[in-house]
Amino acid sequence: MSSRLSIALAAGDGIGPEIMDATLELFKAAGVMNHADFIPVEMGAAVFAKGNSRGMSDHAIRTTEECGILFKGPMETPKGGGGKSINVTARKLWNAYANFRTFKTLPGVETVYSKAGIFIDMCVVRENIEDTYGGVEHRLSNDMIQCKRLISAPGCDAVHRFAFQTARRLGIKKAACVHKANIMKMTDGLFLDRFKAAGRDFPEIEQSDVIVDALCMNLVVKPQQYQMLVLPNLQGDIVSDLCAGLVGGLGFAPSANIGNHISIFEAVHGTAPDIAGRGIANPTSLILSGIMMLRHMGLTVPAANIENALLATLESGVRTGDFGDKTKPSLGTRDFTNAIVERLGNTPKTVAAVEVPAANSKLPERAPTPTGQQVIRTFKNVVTHVGGCDIYLDTPLSPLALAEEMQRVCQDTPFKLTLISNRGTQVWPTGSVYTECVDYYRVRFELKENVPPGSFGQSRCVALMDKVSEAFTICSYELLRTFDGVKGYSLAQGQ
Ligand code: NAD
Repeated sequence: MSSRLSIALAAGDGIGPEIMDATLELFKAAGVMNHADFIPVEMGAAVFAKGNSRGMSDHAIRTTEECGILFKGPMETPKGGGGKSINVTARKLWNAYANFRTFKTLPGVETVYSKAGIFIDMCVVRENIEDTYGGVEHRLSNDMIQCKRLISAPGCDAVHRFAFQTARRLGIKKAACVHKANIMKMTDGLFLDRFKAAGRDFPEIEQSDVIVDALCMNLVVKPQQYQMLVLPNLQGDIVSDLCAGLVGGLGFAPSANIGNHISIFEAVHGTAPDIAGRGIANPTSLILSGIMMLRHMGLTVPAANIENALLATLESGVRTGDFGDKTKPSLGTRDFTNAIVERLGNTPKTVAAVEVPAANSKLPERAPTPTGQQVIRTFKNVVTHVGGCDIYLDTPLSPLALAEEMQRVCQDTPFKLTLISNRGTQVWPTGSVYTECVDYYRVRFELKENVPPGSFGQSRCVALMDKVSEAFTICSYELLRTFDGVKGYSLAQGQ
């Protein structure tokens, strides 16, 4: 490897600077600085305090884009106000679409599983951009707030491809798609379908799927049965913290956010304000994330050396105050790091050592900088027809009174009223008196029987909506379309 690497470096807030200093000290001792420059950038609380609602300076954005790698400590998310989570902003801004976390039983980090002789070695690939993390939220009525869950075919394809390629590269033999497609048949159904489609190119990897609630139980009862889990964003967020708990907590779980152009490596725990500035924070999560980053950049020799030294340190019983044998004295961040530095060149005795390669591996090719925002499409040449629309109304009327009003509105149109639902449950034409309603309804209009599908476009739905709006507040509307003859909308519960 000849050319030097550049890494944008954001130390973070709270314990961030303490654990970042420790990690860089270790990197220096392992020879990482012979190959890489770390360029400090401003991100976090201080930037929010200056009124910048993104929490990152323009220089930080430019530098990260030039480097292609961001190494970051934990950052405080402002509570309330306009400031958004930097982690979420960074992943979305730079299309770091796959979150990759590994969970491994570590020597010296005792858990109920390690005590029972159960060795955990698994990873989670989480879709990182879509789902409810789109942050598309609206107050629709006095009493109803909506968060849109967006799942796209290209978004699924990108994360599934990454998962299978990673499994192949790391020799992982089994991958399971985790979902809730029994309830969210269309969104999670798409996630699962695209997993199966992507998996066809990886026949050597055993593929399965599991519903997320069953998975949670399985993980607690028999975690060692899984090697790789692939999940949509929100479910992945929750399950990856569960997995961290299996191996000792967030302090032992590294995290990488991988994109085609820019990747972000970070500690997964927060800023630990309760211990910040005391020099007692555990740097292991950031060190493990740093090891992932070094491998990603092709610095496989220092990555292996640091990992072996860390394992040797942990197995010797050296610990910070948050883990390990509490009857033995604990070390502060700096002394803990020095203990790892002293063991560089050593290998662990109680667990398998990581093989140190003869030379660093080839730097992965960086994709050319896009000249503009790309539009990626999975399904093309699909024949679509408009068959009606769902109109969402803010009204305190009863279902029956609302139905009368809506039938009157659609009298002289090509549409008939077919359904009224409240919170997703059908309340008209049939329903249960036990269904309690709130002030936000969906009314569904479909083409009358004598109107052939496809004979009307969207404009007739807009005209209908116009009529409805004369007497009602319309919160939103969705077209009812078929795609190659298949309904592109769900039925109401009880329909
Ligand atoms: P936290 O992870 O900061 O702290 C939870 C508990 O774990 C605390 O008792 C803390 O002392 C302990 N802890 C965490 N990391 C530790 C370490 N390395 N060594 C020893 N002990 C450690 O979670 P929180 O208190 O909910 O969040 C604090 C702040 O961090 C919030 O502003 C939150 O938004 C932010 N946060 C940032 C990230 C990130 O940047 N990736 C992740 C989570 C939370």
